Amino acid sequence: MLVGVPREIKVHEYRTGLTPASVRELTGRGHPVLVETGLGAAIGLSDEQYEAAGAGIVPSASEVWGRAELIVKVKEPQAAERALLREGQVLFTYLHLAADPPQAEDLVRSRAVCIAYETVTGPGGGLPLLAPMSEVAGRLAVQAGAAHLELPAGGMGVLLSGVPGVPPAHVVIIGAGVVGTNALQVAAGAGARVTVIDRNIERLRQLDLVFGNRIATRCSTGHAIEESLADADLVIGAVLVAGAAAPKLVTRAMLAGMKRGAVLVDVAIDQGGCFETSRPTTHADPTYVVDGIVHYCVANMPGAVARTSAHALNNATLPFVLALADKGWRRALADDEHLRRGLNVCRGEVTHEAVADALGRAW
Ligand code: NAD
Repeated sequence: MLVGVPREIKVHEYRTGLTPASVRELTGRGHPVLVETGLGAAIGLSDEQYEAAGAGIVPSASEVWGRAELIVKVKEPQAAERALLREGQVLFTYLHLAADPPQAEDLVRSRAVCIAYETVTGPGGGLPLLAPMSEVAGRLAVQAGAAHLELPAGGMGVLLSGVPGVPPAHVVIIGAGVVGTNALQVAAGAGARVTVIDRNIERLRQLDLVFGNRIATRCSTGHAIEESLADADLVIGAVLVAGAAAPKLVTRAMLAGMKRGAVLVDVAIDQGGCFETSRPTTHADPTYVVDGIVHYCVANMPGAVARTSAHALNNATLPFVLALADKGWRRALADDEHLRRGLNVCRGEVTHEAVADALGRAW
């Protein structure tokens, strides 16, 4: 099957649908791959590396879209890209259609087969094509938070690890899922004092078994959160209630009880944020201050480390890309219920129930 990868055209998106390592797996199985010139230039992946992996380099996105049977991307297709999608073509990428009716209409009209990374499921539950980005965001949350605790960045001037004779910073993590656990690993690894808060006691038990008395765990109540915030230096918001906006667990009133110059990193900002005072920010201008507390609320955190993110994403998507290329979309979806849940739009119809519900009309 002819697989194509156009350059991402969404602003500040530098990840690539396929890395040279993924291309090599495809070409090794006899699938020709076309990539647009300059595909990975921003993250150090040259045309030469793609060529060495067996890809053909073409000068324009329209040639990739025009010739490929399977398009592998990162971000949802932009309007100019949707105009190039055609009947029967398979598109495998993040779509996030539920909140994007204009895109849904274009995909339906194209009669293409559109499979969304974010609704592919895993055998043990969970969303395996979202998990790598949560891993990245969780680890990055501590790095970004630590950087903004520095005085020149507006923070209170505290070093996460402390030094001999000076205690470490206190990091409070609210939500102990994929983001929270990855934040915990980095914060604990850096020597911070860490408190993890979740409403899922079983999850707290698991973390307690692994980290023992290196961390404190607390059941999520307003009281526990308020008490933990009082001596927090860095707070990481990482809650998720599937299918719902993030609950506002830290109210504006609670900020008054915090140390000035403390930093809040709201990773859950893509679901509306779990701090009442959160609003989305960008990598270009990532923070703002409310009541003396620094807020970092970047909605696409993995973009800041696009090299790591591109490889992490490819590791997760590659088995599905290989199945689609080897078997064709019909067999690949028939054989794998988890990949099948990724199907959002098929030949003129929205096929994912939750997506159709969210779009709020009969398709
Ligand atoms: P997850 O489902 O693995 O974990 C969520 C956790 O929140 C669960 O352990 C759950 O028990 C806990 N939780 C739910 N309600 C709670 C409450 N009231 N109090 C305390 N804990 C509560 O989700 P995840 O993969 O870790 O993702 C977390 C959030 O981060 C999501 O909103 C996700 O979209 C977002 N995210 C953002 C970025 C970004 O760039 N900003 C990147 C990746 C993920």
